[in-house]
Amino acid sequence: MDIPRIFNIIESAHRIHNPFTPEKFATLGSALRLESGLRVLDLGSGSGEMLCTWARDYGIVGIGVDMSQLFSEQARLRAEELGVTDRVKFIHNNAAGYVSEEKVDVAACVGATWIGGGVAGTIELLALSLRTDGIILIGEPYWRQLPPTEDVAKGCLANAISDFLVLPELVASFGSLGYDVVEMVLANQDGWDRYEAAKWLTMRRWLEDNSHDELAQEVRSKLTSEPRRYATYTREYLGWGVFALMPQL
Ligand code: SAH
Repeated sequence: MDIPRIFNIIESAHRIHNPFTPEKFATLGSALRLESGLRVLDLGSGSGEMLCTWARDYGIVGIGVDMSQLFSEQARLRAEELGVTDRVKFIHNNAAGYVSEEKVDVAACVGATWIGGGVAGTIELLALSLRTDGIILIGEPYWRQLPPTEDVAKGCLANAISDFLVLPELVASFGSLGYDVVEMVLANQDGWDRYEAAKWLTMRRWLEDNSHDELAQEVRSKLTSEPRRYATYTREYLGWGVFALMPQL
């Protein structure tokens, strides 16, 4: 079981697989007023940077579930590197339907809401693991500017304009689902550059060593087209943020 190999190749050198920087995760941890011993569940935990750094900086206890074997292994290594193996555990598995045995204080899905079939389904799934008055974290894209055409949305690698909302609509949509938005930390274009541009050097280096691989042509063509596509579309039109939600009283 694994995610498509192309993602493991292109994001092999990423510690954070979304437009957040280490500083943004630190800001989020402090915004949430995390305390030692709080339990955090992370579905689609990637290479584990959020849980590992929060375990180091705030003493949280974490469980991450991710379908990429490579990222899950990198997460375990990162936990060793930061000396937090006693506090975080990473499970290599499909997170669809995953409910933790013990209730958690924070239940997160940061940039992988397809796991629950979309934002609403993922909130429902996370809520099954959440203690009363716990916090749900959703990391999700939104339109910084509404694309003028469907082609522009496709240039952002969305299927359609309707895939995402503008920020005011996105925050309002959480209210319609019965949740208060109690905090948010938004990425910016520098963060997008770290996420997207870091893929290019990884692709260039991978091609040096894997010119006969069955994915070499695909990677070659992405390396040619991605900088321009990203600068034209994603960088201008797509925003991203993590939203902290609590059930409305
Ligand atoms: N939250 C992480 C990773 C976000 S990228 C971070 O902030 O860095 C999306 C992640 O979802 C990838 O690590 C991918 O391997 C994982 N993923 C995709 N489908 C999944 C599934 N069905 N179950 C668990 N993880 C999944």
